[in-house]
Amino acid sequence: TYVIAQPCIGLKDASCVEVCPVDCIHSDDEAEQYFINPDECIDCGVCAEVCPVEAIFFEDDLPEQWADFLRINREYFQK
Ligand code: SF4
Repeated sequence: TYVIAQPCIGLKDASCVEVCPVDCIHSDDEAEQYFINPDECIDCGVCAEVCPVEAIFFEDDLPEQWADFLRINREYFQK
């Protein structure tokens, strides 16, 4: 799965939402960032290409300091 990390917080540009072919990127008014549903993501990578702040990474390429976002993205969909 792809994962949305720290740079999205407070920005929520949402370019990724428009390009995702399976509509698996979601958020809500209370959340400070967007999240990718790991059960629906097909690893196409398009979201990462359009993100203006490079907030999106394939899970294996997540920078070490943002490793926690793998869990954070998944947990959003377990609420
Ligand atoms: Fe959607 Fe593709 Fe990004 Fe997964 S990698 S969230 S399927 S745009």
